[in-house]
Amino acid sequence: MPKQLYVLLDRDGVINHDSDAFIKSPDEWIPIEGSLEAIGLLNSHGYQVIVVTNQSGVARGLFDETMLEKIHAKMCRLVSEKGGHIAAIYFCPHGANSDCGCRKPKAGLLKAFAADFHADLTTIAVIGDSLRDLQAAEAVGAKPILVKTGKGRQTLLNNPQLNIPVFENLYDAAQHLIS
Ligand SMILES: [Zn+2]
Repeated sequence: MPKQLYVLLDRDGVINHDSDAFIKSPDEWIPIEGSLEAIGLLNSHGYQVIVVTNQSGVARGLFDETMLEKIHAKMCRLVSEKGGHIAAIYFCPHGANSDCGCRKPKAGLLKAFAADFHADLTTIAVIGDSLRDLQAAEAVGAKPILVKTGKGRQTLLNNPQLNIPVFENLYDAAQHLIS
Protein backbone atom coordinates (compact mmCIF):
# COMPACT_ATOMS: atom_id res chain seq x y z
CA MET A 1 0.00 0.00 0.00
CA PRO A 2 1.47 3.43 -0.89
CA LYS A 3 2.30 5.66 2.01
CA GLN A 4 -0.62 7.90 2.88
CA LEU A 5 0.01 11.65 2.94
CA TYR A 6 -1.71 13.93 5.45
CA VAL A 7 -1.88 17.63 6.23
CA LEU A 8 -3.34 18.94 9.49
CA LEU A 9 -5.02 22.34 9.37
CA ASP A 10 -6.10 24.69 12.09
CA ARG A 11 -9.56 26.07 11.25
CA ASP A 12 -10.16 29.67 12.36
CA GLY A 13 -7.72 32.08 10.70
CA VAL A 14 -6.46 29.38 8.34
CA ILE A 15 -9.50 28.04 6.46
CA ASN A 16 -12.02 30.70 7.51
CA HIS A 17 -11.88 34.28 8.72
CA ASP A 18 -11.45 34.37 12.49
CA SER A 19 -13.46 36.55 14.85
CA ASP A 20 -12.69 37.75 18.36
CA ALA A 21 -16.41 37.20 18.97
CA PHE A 22 -16.02 33.50 17.97
CA ILE A 23 -17.60 31.69 15.03
CA LYS A 24 -20.97 30.80 16.54
CA SER A 25 -23.10 29.85 13.52
CA PRO A 26 -22.75 28.65 9.94
CA ASP A 27 -23.47 32.20 8.70
CA GLU A 28 -20.39 33.43 10.57
CA TRP A 29 -18.17 30.83 8.93
CA ILE A 30 -16.68 32.64 5.90
CA PRO A 31 -13.84 31.02 3.96
CA ILE A 32 -10.58 32.87 3.39
CA GLU A 33 -10.01 33.42 -0.32
CA GLY A 34 -8.35 30.38 -1.87
CA SER A 35 -8.59 28.15 1.21
CA LEU A 36 -11.27 25.85 -0.19
CA GLU A 37 -9.32 25.50 -3.42
CA ALA A 38 -6.18 24.79 -1.38
CA ILE A 39 -7.82 21.76 0.22
CA GLY A 40 -8.87 20.48 -3.21
CA LEU A 41 -5.33 21.05 -4.49
CA LEU A 42 -3.87 19.05 -1.61
CA ASN A 43 -6.39 16.24 -2.20
CA SER A 44 -5.56 16.10 -5.90
CA HIS A 45 -1.92 15.54 -4.95
CA GLY A 46 -2.72 12.63 -2.67
CA TYR A 47 -3.04 14.39 0.67
CA GLN A 48 -5.81 13.69 3.12
CA VAL A 49 -6.77 16.90 4.92
CA ILE A 50 -7.59 16.83 8.63
CA VAL A 51 -8.91 19.80 10.64
CA VAL A 52 -7.64 20.22 14.21
CA THR A 53 -9.29 23.08 16.09
CA ASN A 54 -9.74 24.59 19.55
CA GLN A 55 -13.40 25.54 20.05
CA SER A 56 -13.57 26.96 23.55
CA GLY A 57 -16.79 28.73 22.59
CA VAL A 58 -18.48 25.44 23.50
CA ALA A 59 -17.15 25.60 27.09
CA ARG A 60 -18.04 29.30 27.22
CA GLY A 61 -21.64 28.45 26.30
CA LEU A 62 -21.53 30.56 23.12
CA PHE A 63 -22.62 27.60 20.98
CA ASP A 64 -23.13 23.88 21.53
CA GLU A 65 -21.69 20.85 19.78
CA THR A 66 -24.80 20.52 17.63
CA MET A 67 -24.20 24.03 16.30
CA LEU A 68 -20.52 23.19 15.82
CA GLU A 69 -21.60 20.22 13.69
CA LYS A 70 -23.72 22.56 11.56
CA ILE A 71 -20.78 24.93 11.13
CA HIS A 72 -18.60 22.01 10.09
CA ALA A 73 -21.27 20.73 7.73
CA LYS A 74 -21.14 24.11 5.95
CA MET A 75 -17.34 23.97 5.82
CA CYS A 76 -17.37 20.45 4.38
CA ARG A 77 -20.09 21.37 1.86
CA LEU A 78 -18.18 24.40 0.58
CA VAL A 79 -14.98 22.36 0.34
CA SER A 80 -16.76 19.62 -1.61
CA GLU A 81 -18.23 22.21 -4.00
CA LYS A 82 -14.61 23.01 -4.92
CA GLY A 83 -13.81 19.33 -5.44
CA GLY A 84 -12.12 18.79 -2.09
CA HIS A 85 -12.76 16.66 0.97
CA ILE A 86 -12.01 16.95 4.68
CA ALA A 87 -11.20 13.48 5.98
CA ALA A 88 -11.77 14.21 9.67
CA ILE A 89 -12.30 17.03 12.16
CA TYR A 90 -10.83 16.96 15.67
CA PHE A 91 -11.92 19.69 18.07
CA CYS A 92 -11.33 20.61 21.69
CA PRO A 93 -14.54 21.96 23.26
CA HIS A 94 -12.87 22.86 26.56
CA GLY A 95 -12.09 26.26 28.01
CA ALA A 96 -8.77 28.10 28.11
CA ASN A 97 -8.39 27.33 31.83
CA SER A 98 -9.29 23.67 31.49
CA ASP A 99 -6.55 21.16 32.14
CA CYS A 100 -7.73 18.91 29.32
CA GLY A 101 -5.13 17.22 27.18
CA CYS A 102 -6.57 18.29 23.87
CA ARG A 103 -6.56 22.11 23.80
CA LYS A 104 -3.63 23.29 21.70
CA PRO A 105 -0.75 23.92 22.51
CA LYS A 106 -1.30 20.46 23.98
CA ALA A 107 -1.05 17.72 21.42
CA GLY A 108 -4.03 15.53 22.34
CA LEU A 109 -5.94 16.23 19.14
CA LEU A 110 -2.89 15.45 17.02
CA LYS A 111 -2.29 12.25 18.95
CA ALA A 112 -5.93 11.22 18.52
CA PHE A 113 -5.60 11.71 14.78
CA ALA A 114 -2.36 9.72 14.69
CA ALA A 115 -3.98 6.84 16.56
CA ASP A 116 -7.10 6.81 14.38
CA PHE A 117 -5.18 6.99 11.10
CA HIS A 118 -2.10 4.98 12.18
CA ALA A 119 -0.10 7.99 11.02
CA ASP A 120 3.47 9.00 11.81
CA LEU A 121 3.23 12.62 12.99
CA THR A 122 6.91 13.27 12.37
CA THR A 123 6.31 13.36 8.63
CA ILE A 124 3.22 15.56 8.74
CA ALA A 125 2.80 19.31 8.17
CA VAL A 126 0.61 21.19 10.64
CA ILE A 127 -0.58 24.55 9.31
CA GLY A 128 -1.72 27.22 11.74
CA ASP A 129 -1.90 30.94 12.44
CA SER A 130 -1.30 30.89 16.22
CA LEU A 131 1.73 30.04 18.28
CA ARG A 132 -0.22 27.29 20.04
CA ASP A 133 -0.78 25.51 16.72
CA LEU A 134 2.95 25.53 16.09
CA GLN A 135 3.72 24.42 19.66
CA ALA A 136 1.31 21.48 19.40
CA ALA A 137 3.06 20.42 16.20
CA GLU A 138 6.51 20.73 17.77
CA ALA A 139 5.39 18.77 20.83
CA VAL A 140 4.91 15.67 18.69
CA GLY A 141 7.73 16.27 16.21
CA ALA A 142 5.43 17.28 13.35
CA LYS A 143 6.33 20.04 10.88
CA PRO A 144 4.80 23.40 11.81
CA ILE A 145 3.94 25.87 9.06
CA LEU A 146 2.69 29.40 9.77
CA VAL A 147 0.26 31.28 7.55
CA LYS A 148 -0.10 35.07 7.77
CA THR A 149 -3.88 34.98 7.66
CA GLY A 150 -5.93 35.19 10.87
CA LYS A 151 -3.56 35.88 13.77
CA GLY A 152 -0.57 34.86 11.67
CA ARG A 153 0.95 38.29 11.09
CA GLN A 154 0.74 39.06 14.79
CA THR A 155 2.18 35.64 15.65
CA LEU A 156 5.16 36.42 13.43
CA LEU A 157 5.63 39.88 15.00
CA ASN A 158 5.40 38.46 18.50
CA ASN A 159 7.79 35.59 17.79
CA PRO A 160 10.57 36.85 15.51
CA GLN A 161 12.69 33.87 16.56
CA LEU A 162 10.40 31.41 14.78
CA ASN A 163 12.46 29.41 12.34
CA ILE A 164 9.74 27.68 10.35
CA PRO A 165 8.20 28.08 6.89
CA VAL A 166 5.83 31.06 6.59
CA PHE A 167 3.30 31.61 3.80
CA GLU A 168 0.83 34.35 2.93
CA ASN A 169 -2.15 32.00 3.14
CA LEU A 170 -3.27 28.38 2.96
CA TYR A 171 -3.21 28.33 -0.84
CA ASP A 172 0.45 29.37 -0.93
CA ALA A 173 1.29 26.82 1.76
CA ALA A 174 -0.53 24.10 -0.20
CA GLN A 175 1.36 24.98 -3.38
CA HIS A 176 4.60 24.69 -1.45
CA LEU A 177 3.67 21.26 -0.03
CA ILE A 178 2.84 19.78 -3.42
CA SER A 179 5.83 21.27 -5.24
ZN1 LIG B 1 -9.73 19.93 25.37
